[in-house]
Formats: sequence, C-alpha cells, structure tokens
Amino acid sequence: MIRVAILGSTGSIGTSTLDVIAAMPERFEVVSLSAGSRVAELCDQAKAFSVKRVCVGEGLADEAKRSLANPHIDVLEGDSGLLQLAGDPDVDMVINGLVAGVGIRPTVAALEAGKDVATANKETLVVAGEVVTAIAREKGVKLVPLDSELTPLWESLQSRSLEDVKRIVLPASGGPFFDASLEAMMKVTPDEALNHPTWKMGPKITIDSATLMNKGFEVIESHWFFGIPISKIDVIIHRQSIVHCMIEYIDGGLTAHLSATDMRLPIQQALTHPDKLPSRIDTLDLVKVGTLSFFEPDLERFPCLQLCYDAIAAGGTAPAVLNASNEIAVGAFLKEQIGFMDIPRVVGEALESHTTGVGDLEGIYEADRWARERAEEIVGEIGK
Ligand code: MG
Repeated sequence: MIRVAILGSTGSIGTSTLDVIAAMPERFEVVSLSAGSRVAELCDQAKAFSVKRVCVGEGLADEAKRSLANPHIDVLEGDSGLLQLAGDPDVDMVINGLVAGVGIRPTVAALEAGKDVATANKETLVVAGEVVTAIAREKGVKLVPLDSELTPLWESLQSRSLEDVKRIVLPASGGPFFDASLEAMMKVTPDEALNHPTWKMGPKITIDSATLMNKGFEVIESHWFFGIPISKIDVIIHRQSIVHCMIEYIDGGLTAHLSATDMRLPIQQALTHPDKLPSRIDTLDLVKVGTLSFFEPDLERFPCLQLCYDAIAAGGTAPAVLNASNEIAVGAFLKEQIGFMDIPRVVGEALESHTTGVGDLEGIYEADRWARERAEEIVGEIGK
C-alpha cells in the first residue's frame, strides 16, 4: 500500500489523480489533501477518501473544520500546513498538483524528508530543476513528472541508456493561434486565448500553452528530469494532440507514444510504474483520427519557446526570472493590462536586464522576487 498526499487536490491534476486512485484502493491510501480556496470541494474529497489530514488556504481552517465536522481529521492551513503535509511521516509519496510558484517549497520539503514525488508543477523543475534533482539523487527517492508528454517519456527512458537516445521530441498542439497572423495575435483577447483546442486546463497553463511557453517549460523540465542536453530536445507542432512524445534513437529509429487526450493515463503511468494496469481512458481510434500532422514551430510568432532555450543556456537564476516574469505577464494579460504578444516582450526584457546569479534556492527566491518587481515595471511601461 502506497500512502499518498495530494497537494492541490481540487485542481485538474488533483481530481484526475483521485479518479485514478479511486479505481485502485488496494494499491493506494490517500492520507492527506490540500486546496487553496475550494474548501467545500476539498471537504467532500476528504470524506470520500477518509483522509487523516487536510490543508486549506490561510484563514480558512475554521470553515474547513465546520464543513468536515470530524475531530479526527487534522486541519492545517497556509504554506506551513503544506510543508507539514509534504514532510508527513505517514506519507510515502507526494503528488504535487499545486499551481505555479507555491509548489516549489513543498517539493523540496517532501524530497528532503525522503518521499517520492510525482509533480505536475512545472515551475518547480523550470526554476529549481538542478536543486531538486540533486536532492532526489542524494536522498535516493523518485522524482517523477506528471504530464501528458513527460510521463510517457519518463516511463520509456526508465529502461534505456541515454547514450542510446539521439534526441527527444515534444509535440505541442500549437494552441488556438497556431495559424494566426502576427497582426491578429497582437489583438488577441483573454477569452480567445483561454480557448484551448484539445486540453481543458486552468487559465495560467492555458495561456502558457497558447504562447508555447508551456512547451518551452517542458523542454527545461525534460532537461532536468532526464539529464538530456537541450540541444537534444526538439519541439514540433502536432495539431491533434494524439502523439504525446517521441524518442529518436541513435540507430535512426523513432518511437512515439500515442493515446487519447486524458490526463488520467500519465497519472496512472507515474503511479503504477513499472506495472501496466487497465484504465478508464478511451481507446484511441486511429481511423477516426485519420490524419496526424506536424509542423515546425514559428519562433517569430511564438518567441516564448526561444526564451526558454535562452534561459536554460544562461543557467543559474535565469530560468527563475523567465518563470516569475511570465507569471506577472500572463496575469497582466488576463487583466487586459497588456496584449498577448507583450507576454514574450515582458519576459524577454526581464531576462535581458537580469544579471545571472548562482541558482541555489536562496539565489532562486531572490531572483524570483527581483523578476516579479521588474516585470511589473515593464508591464507598467507597456500599459502607458
Ligand atoms: Mg504537457
């Protein structure tokens, strides 16, 4: 029995994870759950899975206690509560489905406490990839990606030497503006950008998908998760989101992972590896799909992708600046303070004005703070 903590249990990763786990009660026990503000939903989950502990956002513990009406369930709150869940001695594996920057500290805490971690939180690997992979190695624990592209890659690479791998290819759907002109993209509204063609996700990651920043983040994540140099990580536009990743071997052969678009599959792969078990996802009907198409990404219209390669090449604190300035830029775009094509502009200018420092945790947090302020300034200048 693997005892799990699910951080961010009311989000899309959290609910999909619970769905996967509900089908395998003999394998997994959910010990704890956390949510930021969706207290009622969290309490329903806590009752359904008979958890021992929950954590809610700062100031919401009383509401959660009333709603749970069960003195045997510990109720924690805020960042300190999340760290407690992550380091809990009753837990073997931490599932990190937290949104954006809040996910880094709990991942570090879980790894330091010797837990396996499966994480969908991109920012952790983007910003602190070198640090967290080093801790995982030192502690001898597993650090597994939860992602439609990275999890099947991780699974395939478990049985392979990296010396056999010529390159990996990450497909991107291309988002809603795949074939839009640069002029049209400059006038995109938040509603248009939030309309992703194949995946249903939260607003931040949906915008990151539309700018291809999300795919660039996956390039950086792949670099750290798998120890593959970025020169061997390519991105290809693939409209149907049926091929989720490809590995080209040195002999010229290429394997691809295909499935229906359903996050429950990568989650199950991550949780049950190396076992293959039946799942609830739809069978892929290739005849119905008919055509699989692939295109080169256009870096002029999607500069965020190049910015990711640049940031990882710069190393140190540069990826932290990339991530933090992007978060501010996406927020400003959603509030209609800046345009869609201003997102890469804010990130690019923040990166340009940054002096790269040492990428340890202290350096990263400092760079994160600096980049948020700098990005706000740039947003202010653009908005004038
Ligand atoms: Mg992905």
